[in-house]
Amino acid sequence: MEIKKGIGVSPGVVISTAFVLDAADLLIPKRQVEVEQIGCEVERFDRAVGDSVEDLGKLKESVAQRAGKEVAGIFDFHLGVLKDKSVLKQITDEIKKNQTTAEYAVSTVMRKFANSFLAMADHYLSERVKDIHDIERRVLRTLIGQKHEDLLHLKNDVVVIAHDLLPSQTASLDRGHVRGFAIDVGGRTSHTAIVARAMGIPAVVGLGNITSEVSGGDTIIIDGTRGVVIVNPDADQVEEHRQQKQNLEVLEIHLKSLADLPAETKDGHVVSLQANIEFPEDVDDALVHGAQGIGLYRTEFLYLASETEPTEEDHYASYADALRRLKGRPLVIRTLDLGADKYTQAKAMSPERNPFLGDRSIRMCLHDIPMFKRQLRAIMRASLLGDVRIMFPMICTIMELRQAKMVLNDVMEELEDEGVSFRKEISIGMMVEVPAAVIQADQFAKEVNFFSIGTNDLIQYTLAVDRTNEKVAGLFCPAHPAVLKLIRDTIRAGTRNSISVSVCGEMGGDPLYTLLLLGLGLNIFSMNGPDIPEVKKIIRSTTMDHARQVARRVMSFDSERQVMHFLREETRKIIPEAF
Ligand code: PEP
Ligand code: MG
Repeated sequence: MEIKKGIGVSPGVVISTAFVLDAADLLIPKRQVEVEQIGCEVERFDRAVGDSVEDLGKLKESVAQRAGKEVAGIFDFHLGVLKDKSVLKQITDEIKKNQTTAEYAVSTVMRKFANSFLAMADHYLSERVKDIHDIERRVLRTLIGQKHEDLLHLKNDVVVIAHDLLPSQTASLDRGHVRGFAIDVGGRTSHTAIVARAMGIPAVVGLGNITSEVSGGDTIIIDGTRGVVIVNPDADQVEEHRQQKQNLEVLEIHLKSLADLPAETKDGHVVSLQANIEFPEDVDDALVHGAQGIGLYRTEFLYLASETEPTEEDHYASYADALRRLKGRPLVIRTLDLGADKYTQAKAMSPERNPFLGDRSIRMCLHDIPMFKRQLRAIMRASLLGDVRIMFPMICTIMELRQAKMVLNDVMEELEDEGVSFRKEISIGMMVEVPAAVIQADQFAKEVNFFSIGTNDLIQYTLAVDRTNEKVAGLFCPAHPAVLKLIRDTIRAGTRNSISVSVCGEMGGDPLYTLLLLGLGLNIFSMNGPDIPEVKKIIRSTTMDHARQVARRVMSFDSERQVMHFLREETRKIIPEAF
């Protein structure tokens, strides 16, 4: 039994079987397989070699066409190694004799092979080491790709153990059977954390090296509430966690019974609780949890879940689907927020030095107007089907906002010329997620119909903390007084200019901050569906007077510690079991 401590990012407890995803660019840990699995691993390896040879053949052909046969000849060495019977035999022998995974056998044999080349006096041959690493990574990527394919069609329930999961991987996994995540890296607002909360399954991130300590098939307990993962637990641990799981399930049933009740304080102040989604089908679950609409539709997942760029029709079909499910409730469609943590395969091939400060989000859209227009056309066409609102992400300058609106105007004119109908009066909003937007909030408020505060990025850009880096996860804190002042100022600017303000970052669904945000005058909270009942319970158990008092007190503190301590005490009075 091994107990590992990480960052609990999605509450709940699960006891299940490990499904491990290795990372091709890291050292592959030794993993044993059962005797009856050996044949399977050899077969996986053969398949991976076959696929790699095929890919290399295609690559060679296309390079030959573009740069000539001589240049394409560099792939002959790669193909030679992958067809070398003695190399292939060494790898299959390693799988059979040592009962290891195909990944481990490839990595061990190829590394030995590389070392023998490195020891050669001949400069040409020792230089081939880079090629061998290249071949190793290619086969590993193929093997890991196969595993990922398996993740799409699981037969049994599993918990996924991985170094990290790309948004494109989480976007496509089999949600019916994945019961939890335990991840080496990441923080509270990293993508896997958000997905886990949206799916309502436990997750722990920032575990350091969980992938090297778990083998596929191990029994795992993930306790997302306490941030603990137990590998191969003993009977006592299993019993204790089973009990805890049952208690949480009882609490959840109680909270779900609030779904149809309004989010109204004891003294009659009503707010709107909405949900964040990534796919149209997420609407159903959001409604079950009591969402009154969708406050953030992260449309970039249409890109991330697919190999090819979505067409206007793909966009339209998704928006129409979401609207059909919403039956007249509002849908805030955020335009593409690609780049940085949400990169596409194409972007990953030309990595930026500083992607969070790079060509992401609205910047990328304004650099690729045809792509941007495809989405805007689809949104406008769908506007006839329900209550559609448009939101631009990552706005930093007035010019960016005006440019985005100009592109939208062009789209409307084009549709009109084509005789395509759409709703002309459409609500346009922007995300407030960089400090510059808060500082200029009064100017921005005159040019949009609503603000939505993206606390995930606002915290990252205010405190200079990478939201996905587990090493600085302790510094990523919504309670930092500087962040709270920015939130307060955005709400005030919204009120002064008579536009609505919501919070759609993870802070909006964290019950610790509900009293504070309510007291600051927030009237729309948008969050992962499963968070809605708890937030609602807090709202229904307090008065506006009390919430305002809490907010006044919090804003007088000068450290995040004081803020969190005070909010914890106040919230515990309402939900004692919450923290
Ligand atoms: C945010 O930044 O708070 C937000 C809601 O957007 P995302 O998490 O998609 O960047
Ligand atoms: Mg953001």
